[in-house]
Parts: sequence; C-alpha cells; structure tokens
Amino acid sequence: MCYKEGGCFIGSVTYQFIVDDNDCWLCQNRHIDDNGYVQVYYLGKMTRIHRAIYEDRNKVILPSYIQVRHLCDNPQCMNPDHLSIGTAHDNAMDKISHGRQPYGETIKTSILRESDVIEILTSTGLSIMELANKFKVYPDTIRKILNGKRWKHIYNKYTDSVPNKPKLKRAPNKPAIKSQHKMKSKETNNKVV
Ligand SMILES: [Zn+2]
Repeated sequence: MCYKEGGCFIGSVTYQFIVDDNDCWLCQNRHIDDNGYVQVYYLGKMTRIHRAIYEDRNKVILPSYIQVRHLCDNPQCMNPDHLSIGTAHDNAMDKISHGRQPYGETIKTSILRESDVIEILTSTGLSIMELANKFKVYPDTIRKILNGKRWKHIYNKYTDSVPNKPKLKRAPNKPAIKSQHKMKSKETNNKVV
C-alpha cells in the first residue's frame, strides 16, 4: 500500500494523517476508541475527529441527533470529502449496506438472548415446534438457528467447541415428505397400470 502524508487544521490544532489507496485520511498518533474512531478534544469536549473536522470545515455545530457518516465506511477516516451528515437511521442503513449491521442480541428487536440460542443448540429430545413454543419464536427461526443460518457466530462457536454435537429429534423436512408422496403416487400409478 502506498501512503502519502498530510496535515490539516481543525480549529487551531494541526493533525497529521496518512492517505491510503482509497484517499482516506487516517489520523496518526491519536487515541482510537473501541469502535475504531479517533477521539480528539474539540471546542471544549472530547469528540470524534471526523465530527470535529466536519463541523470545522462547514462552520456548524451539529445537534447531537445528527451523526456524521463515513461514505467510505472507514471509521478512522477524516477526509472531509468522505463525510456526510445524517440521522442515526441513515447511519444504520450505511452499516447494513456496508455489511456492518448488528447481529445477534445487539439487534434491539431480538427476542432471543445468546443463552437461549445456546440452549436451543444444545437441547436434546425437543422438536422444532416444541422449541419454537418454548422460546416464543417462529419454527423457521429455530430451524435457521439449527442450520447455522441465524446466530451464526454462536453456531460457529458451538460447533467449534463441540464437534459432535447431539442430533436433535426433528420433524421430517419437506423434501423427505415430497419423496414419500412421490413413492406413494408411483405405487398408485403402478396399480392403475
Ligand atoms: Zn475515507
């Protein structure tokens, strides 16, 4: 990767950055929080650097409900051309379109907790319908959890740690019912012939 270097003023402070292949300005030698954002002191309080540079360049003080979004999906970037404002909803939509949507119980509307999912994955002797009733979710949700299509991070952890997990007693799946049906209709046809 070929980096260029630069520096810019925010208020009266100069911030050094390097420029990556996407023309993202990556601030150096500053505190980066757990979410990957660079924290700086601006107008008397700690804030994220991309918010500070947006406010400084546009000569605005944004209300707290307005967020500064990264069009480049790089939380560390402070290139003003890569920034745009929007609501929390816009930001959430950005994350989904960039493949950073929340998963599992971080989704606010999730009914299941991680402990429930582990219980579903480790339970024995209960059918999909019985599990669905127990956890008040659709049978399809249980089916997807058991197939690793939902709560994949828990499923992967579980299957990693327990390679030979017990098989659950499950209702016959649709293809099996279909093939039985086909066999019956073949028999019927044979009788007719
Ligand atoms: Zn960028």
